[in-house]
Order: sequence, then structure tokens, then C-alpha cells
Amino acid sequence: MRTILHSGKIYQEKGKFCEALLIEDGVITKTGSSEKILMLYEDGTDIIDLMDSTVVPGFNDSHLHFYYHGVTMASVNVYGSTSVEEVIEKGRDYLRQHPHHSGYLWGRGWNQNQFVGEKRMLTKDDIDKISVDIPIVLGRACGHVAVCNSKALELANINESGIVEGGEILVGEDGLPNGLFTENAIDLLECLKPRLTVEDVKKQIEQIAKIANQRGITSVSTNDLHMGDENSKIIEQAYVQYASERPTVRINHQICYNTPEILKASVAKGFKSTDFLRYGPLKIFTDGSLGARTALMRTPYADDVSTRGIACMTPEQIDEYVQTATDLGMQVVAHAIGDGAMENVLNAYAKVIDLGKSLRHGIIHCQITDHDILQRMSDLDVLALVQPIFLHADLHIVEDRVGKQLASSSYAFKTMEDLGIHVSYGSDAPVEDFNVFEGIHCAVNRQDLMSYPSVGYNPKEKVDVFTAIDNYTVEGAYASFEEQQKGRLMTGHFADLIVLSDDIFTIPTQEIKELQVLKTMVHGVFV
Ligand SMILES: [Zn+2]
Repeated sequence: MRTILHSGKIYQEKGKFCEALLIEDGVITKTGSSEKILMLYEDGTDIIDLMDSTVVPGFNDSHLHFYYHGVTMASVNVYGSTSVEEVIEKGRDYLRQHPHHSGYLWGRGWNQNQFVGEKRMLTKDDIDKISVDIPIVLGRACGHVAVCNSKALELANINESGIVEGGEILVGEDGLPNGLFTENAIDLLECLKPRLTVEDVKKQIEQIAKIANQRGITSVSTNDLHMGDENSKIIEQAYVQYASERPTVRINHQICYNTPEILKASVAKGFKSTDFLRYGPLKIFTDGSLGARTALMRTPYADDVSTRGIACMTPEQIDEYVQTATDLGMQVVAHAIGDGAMENVLNAYAKVIDLGKSLRHGIIHCQITDHDILQRMSDLDVLALVQPIFLHADLHIVEDRVGKQLASSSYAFKTMEDLGIHVSYGSDAPVEDFNVFEGIHCAVNRQDLMSYPSVGYNPKEKVDVFTAIDNYTVEGAYASFEEQQKGRLMTGHFADLIVLSDDIFTIPTQEIKELQVLKTMVHGVFV
């Protein structure tokens, strides 16, 4: 198939645009002026007039949970709830509207910091008001805390409080479990989930891929696989089927392995990657979230001195995974939010620095940092996979959580650029929605989605629009070793691109979050 796109404002790299592209079999083979490219017309070439629209490469979300975002969008949605009562009401509504539910209700999205009035976590007594007949589990927006009802406690056979390695079953005043679980303890509720089928999961992936395309996303690095879990096998097969049929999103798996032995065994078996399906880095979780005060800090939280957060892995466990993966020639990306977790991960990476640099080890989130941590990332050439949209919620709490001084060097997106760190952007969906324009808004304006504060939070950390787009495109490709094939609209790159409703480079930056995607092309075909 041969296509010419002409008369556009096509972004190539900072300050450089072209008017036209020749696309052959999904790949850009020539770029230049409309006049020059139109001369390459032959019989059978499709010609598309871009009518002066602005075109940028398809967006690449460098870290999210793609399948689980699909599941979340299809289940009860308690995001944005402003009270305990609203969460309960949404749960009841969902059950009324879905009388043929599977006998298990799962949802996600509550955040007590967004409650007006009493800002408390939910407990089983609240969730029992939704139903006492079926098990219900509702995850906090961050995914690091979950609450369930009495039926779920009963079916999962949990009747005692306790510390699970890297997590906790919380208790109420009566000394019995109150339905709240943190971090690794949440896994105790896994047994309640109905068994997945490959067909159902594939349908869910197709649906979320469609929504992603509408938002201009053509590539994702997704963390859905936890090798060693039963459901993971099904999800993996579903992705394989998805990628072999009519895929419209390129998938790169960031994979958790339950033990280093499972990691070794998987690598020994080998992976089959294609242009649409890659088996990427080892993903490890080293701490929790800032909102839930489970991110691992070096010093106690400013607004709760009784805690420094939770280490989901000991430094020794991090070392073992990082060393094992590095020996196998595999990239590592580590979830780290607090400065304590950042330090643990950087210590582990420093020990494998010879190979680690070329394997492009990275840190996902990188939220609470000081200059020394950022300098170390730069020195060790560690990638930052960040989520600018987190500023929307976190700019309201970060100073309370960690104090003014540490907050001023956190979410330091511009400093990361100045230090030469490879920074890619993503959403961590379903933690936040994967609307890329909202992410760019946060990076460029340093404001929440209501445009607060007017001058931007810590405005010296604003980045320019070119940088934000590059971090959502070519840097995402760099993070998966694909920068030679995608992320730029240049010769030799996949024709993955989007046509925008307005010129993102010249409109007032306040308007970026309202932009729409008019058309999305994947591998040379409009989808
Ligand atoms: Zn994540």
C-alpha cells in the first residue's frame, strides 16, 4: 500500500516540520515539501490532503496497565467521588444496572483526599451498604490500598489482622479486620476473582485499544503480566491473539515475575516479539503511593510522623532481581515514588552499572526527589518514566506530605531534562486516565485540570511543548529500544501518526488540554 499525505504541518523534531510524507507498506519512505512528494505519485497511490492540519507522531504511553484500564472502565467507576456516601451510591447503582453481574463486584478509584467533609478511608461497614450478598472489592485510585465488604472477608477466609510481607490487613476498634488491605496484602483477595477466559480478555483489550486510538495513542508499555499468577497466562494469550489479528496499538509488556526463578525460567523459554507485541523489561514494585502515605521515604511523613511508608521489597530483594535480570541481559523498570525507594533502586542499579547503562534500566514515577537523587540518575544514565498527570492530584498534597523543601525538588521534570536524563511520559492508567493532552497540560503549565494554580506549581519545572511531545513519542520508543522505528515522522519510521484539531505548537498553552484527535493512523492505515 502506498499513501501520500500532503499540505500538513508535520512535526519532525524540535523546530523542524515538513509538509508531506510518502508512506509505503506502513513505513515512511520519504518526507519533504508537498510539491516534491506529490511528484512521486504513481497509479494506485492514495492521496490525502491534510488541509494545513498539524500532525504529530502517534502517542506512546510509557507506563500504564492497559488491560486493567479496560477492566476498570467497564466496571463500577468510583473515580472522582466526593464522599463515602457517593461511593456507596455508585456501587448500588452499578448493581441495579447490571443485574447479571458475575457474582463479584470489583471497582477502583476512590480517594479520601478528594472527599469534602470527612476525609477518611472506607471500611467494610461502608461497603456492606452496597451489598452483603456478593463479595465486593474497591481499590483506592492509586491501587495500593483496597477495601472489601464482609462477604469478601468471609469468602477469602480472612478473620485476623496481620502483617503480610510488604503489606497489611488493617483492623478496626474491635480488633477485627475492617476490610482495608494495603500493598501485598491486597493479593489475599485475588482468590475472589472469577476465572478469566482468553476470549473475554481479548475483547477487553480490543475495546480499550479503540479508546486509546481515539485519544491518539498508538503504542503502550503496559504492566498487566505477573508471571506465576494463573490469570497472567490467560492475559498473555489474549495479547498474543490480539496482536495476531488486527492490532491498532503496539504493545510492549513490562512484566512482573513472582520470583527470580520464574524470571530465569521465562527467559530460558524465550519470547516471540513482533512489530505489535514485545516482551520488554522486568517490572518490580519497590514502594506504594504518596496519596496513601505508603511511598517509602527516607524520613517520616511531615503530616504523619508515625510512618515512613512501606518497602514492598527489601534492598536485598531489589538487588537480587536487578542482578538476575542484568545477568540475563534484560532491562529493568522499577516502581519508586518516595525518595527512600528511589535510593534503594539507584543503589541496586549502581552495582550493575557496566551493563545497566546499555540495558536502559529505568525508574517509573520518580516523584519525591532531591538534587542528589536526580544527579545520580543522570550519572548512572537511568531512565525516568514519569506521569505528569499525577500533578493534578499531587500538587495539592505534596507539601503537606513531605514538607516544603523536599516538595520543591520533586516532580522535577525540567531539571531532569537539564541533567540529560531520558524522560518519557505516561499515565499509569487506571491510576489516572490516559488522556495525553491532559498530561501535556500538566507538564507544560504545571497546573491541575482546573488550571490551578494560575502561575503553575513550582513553575521553574515547566517544560516546553516540543519536549512534552517528544517525551510522549520518541522517548517512549527509546525506553523500549525502538527509537529507530517509531516516535518520529522521519524516513524509516512506522507511519503511526495523528491529525490534531488545532496547532498544539501555537495555541495558548492553556488550550492544550481541550485538543482533540481528528484522525489516527497506525502502520499506514487510518483506524
Ligand atoms: Zn503502574
